[in-house]
Amino acid sequence: MAQGDEREIAAAPTATTLAALIDAAKVDKCTHCGFCLPTCPTYDQLGLEMDSPRGRIYLIRSVLEGRTQPDEQFRRHMYRCLECRACETACPSGVPYAAVMEQARAVYERTGARARWQRWLMRLAFEGLLPRPRRLRVMFRLLWLYQRLRLDDALRATRLDKALGRMGAMANLLPRIPHPKLQDDLLEVTPAVGERRYRVGFVSGCVMKPMFADVNLATVRVLTQNGCEVVTPSAQTCCGALQIHGGARDTAEALATKNIDLFLGEDLDAIVINSAGCGAALKEYGELFPHDPLRRERAEEFGAKTRDITEWLDEIGVTPPTHAIDRRVTYDDPCHLLHGQGIGAQPRALLRAIPGVEYVEMPEADWCCGSAGIYNVVQPELAAGILERKMPHVASTEADIVATANPGCLLQLRAGVRDAGLSMRVMHVVELLDWAYTGVEPYSTRADA
Ligand code: SF4
Ligand code: SF4
Repeated sequence: MAQGDEREIAAAPTATTLAALIDAAKVDKCTHCGFCLPTCPTYDQLGLEMDSPRGRIYLIRSVLEGRTQPDEQFRRHMYRCLECRACETACPSGVPYAAVMEQARAVYERTGARARWQRWLMRLAFEGLLPRPRRLRVMFRLLWLYQRLRLDDALRATRLDKALGRMGAMANLLPRIPHPKLQDDLLEVTPAVGERRYRVGFVSGCVMKPMFADVNLATVRVLTQNGCEVVTPSAQTCCGALQIHGGARDTAEALATKNIDLFLGEDLDAIVINSAGCGAALKEYGELFPHDPLRRERAEEFGAKTRDITEWLDEIGVTPPTHAIDRRVTYDDPCHLLHGQGIGAQPRALLRAIPGVEYVEMPEADWCCGSAGIYNVVQPELAAGILERKMPHVASTEADIVATANPGCLLQLRAGVRDAGLSMRVMHVVELLDWAYTGVEPYSTRADA
């Protein structure tokens, strides 16, 4: 969109500019039946129609029809949504709710109504940090040092974390940061163990790379164990998922274009990712280019090749692991895997295939944990309420290990387990599989880590 168009939207959204941003046909699919309401965590927490999927769609339609402005009230209801997509699963009319929500947020962001300092912060995060691996590296090196010096323990012991508000909450969510050098072990090309059956690309993620370097390495090891040569292009960039959720579509388009060109330039059988939230965004890259058929076609080709790691392993059939893990294990569905990609059976099947594992189903495993990207940072009270509903179900499983498949869920569930005083460990499904292949316990959640 040209700069002139943006100024026009900033002054007053017109029917033409809104129509370019919001796909009215998607909004019009909603019949207001209300089947989605009982599945919505924010409606459950707040009991307000405008914080339900139906209410939000009603608001978006009002803006489209010019009866309401995309003002502060609009922003509040749009951003209270977790984008967990449970409503999409429940909807009998097939409303593509997440796509509608992302378009609605982009409309708000283009009004220019957001405070200047907030815009500056979002720009810093979306453009100045997430797509900049060197800056992320420096930041995570400092965080690693902060943990090595036990400043995190001191922060909690002195209750300074409470006084620091959101900053303190963010500090408390941090996992044990792996040694900064560990991310260098991720090679551009890692050969398959034994005969090569597939050649796959690996999307290593922006924050995932320094924060969960150990999970990334476990992913590559498990892939190679299953006959995959793994290509991890070092020039890849942030997938743009957080930018899409935050209404920064122009930035997301640029990031998507770079990743599409890079990965489609390789001869790959699949593009594999271990983060459910990012995976959902990659599969839906086509949505970013509604008015550009050529770029849309390439984005859809990229999306069609993308697989969550659990989906891919289930599809190709895994080599049976040899080391027994004699633990009681449960699984919590990441919303962007279950509701966003329809993947629930595959991770469970992989866990059940591990010798020694006693698998136990968690009640309400399909209910959001409150993580939702950075939701637990920007909406801490609501996120805490949602986690509060989840934790008794986690505890009721009496599991030794809670498995999940998304970095945000790992952080949120670890915080929940810690705050509830439970002795469970929370880890990615692929870490358990790696353990079962190598016999080496994942380091990050070991008591001696
Ligand atoms: S995405 Fe989740 S939080 Fe948002 S309206 Fe749908 S069910 Fe509610
Ligand atoms: S989003 Fe779907 S389930 Fe919810 S009210 Fe609209 S049509 Fe009904």
